[in-house]
Amino acid sequence: MNAVLAPGLYIVATPIGNLGDLSPRAAQILSQAAVIAVEDSRVTAGLLRHIGVKRPMTPYHDHNAEAVRPGLIARMGMEAVALVSDAGTPLISDPGYKLVRDARAAGHSVVTIPGPCAAIAALTLAGLPTDRFFFLGFLPPKAQARAAAIAEVAAIRATLVLYESGPRLAVTLAALAEGLGDRDAAVAREITKKFEEAVTDSLSALAARYADAPPRGEIVIVVAPPGEPEAASAEDADAALAEALQRLPASKAAGEVAKKLGLDRRELYARALELKG
Ligand code: SAM
Repeated sequence: MNAVLAPGLYIVATPIGNLGDLSPRAAQILSQAAVIAVEDSRVTAGLLRHIGVKRPMTPYHDHNAEAVRPGLIARMGMEAVALVSDAGTPLISDPGYKLVRDARAAGHSVVTIPGPCAAIAALTLAGLPTDRFFFLGFLPPKAQARAAAIAEVAAIRATLVLYESGPRLAVTLAALAEGLGDRDAAVAREITKKFEEAVTDSLSALAARYADAPPRGEIVIVVAPPGEPEAASAEDADAALAEALQRLPASKAAGEVAKKLGLDRRELYARALELKG
């Protein structure tokens, strides 16, 4: 049976709650792999039971990865090695990228079997723009580091996606409101499970909602991009032009102000001549 799969590394996405989301291809790879590298063998054993197979498993997690990786890399030259995480897509806030890097460096084949990912599933529930999004994973738990991480992304013109736990949800939502402004957001919880929900509101309203009642289960926060910057007013333009005209000829002053305020250069040039005249 193992001969069916070519040697190499197989990155296998698994369900984030509903076992029905395991793809037929993922089940086929898991049932044929020579060994499955797992975060927690009890969790993956449950998944294997669900598809009625038994395969050898070996732990691969943050605490043993450095020690275990060389052996796995050696094996994938001769056998099919699958990598799973407890839930969702390996490597996404989960171990695995160094295994992929070293497998490639060793010349082994790397194959992905895509599937569930909580971040992507939350984006499909939130009703916020999806054309550009920025995945933050988990924010640092300490207040100062968390505020610094939020400040770093405040100017990014994209929807933000974060993982969080129930007990920390309200504090994180309040920190996001403080650092980003009170943007629209969604809290997606228990996706694909019995109590799946997506609650949408402003960050501050969501923080208030969860402050006294930390929710159970697994959570993704999705935050809207920053609003469009307000267009500069005629008064702003006049003030900037008047200042620039003290240093520059009209055409150059118009060019400088057009760039600075995002306004039309020709209109500014006409206005500069008026102001001078
Ligand atoms: N690799 C996984 C993936 O592809 O989504 C994520 C692993 S990360 C260690 C676990 C976090 O993902 C949880 O703390 C939670 O924030 C989020 N998560 C996982 N399953 C979820 C679910 N069913 N509903 C909401 N969030 C979930």
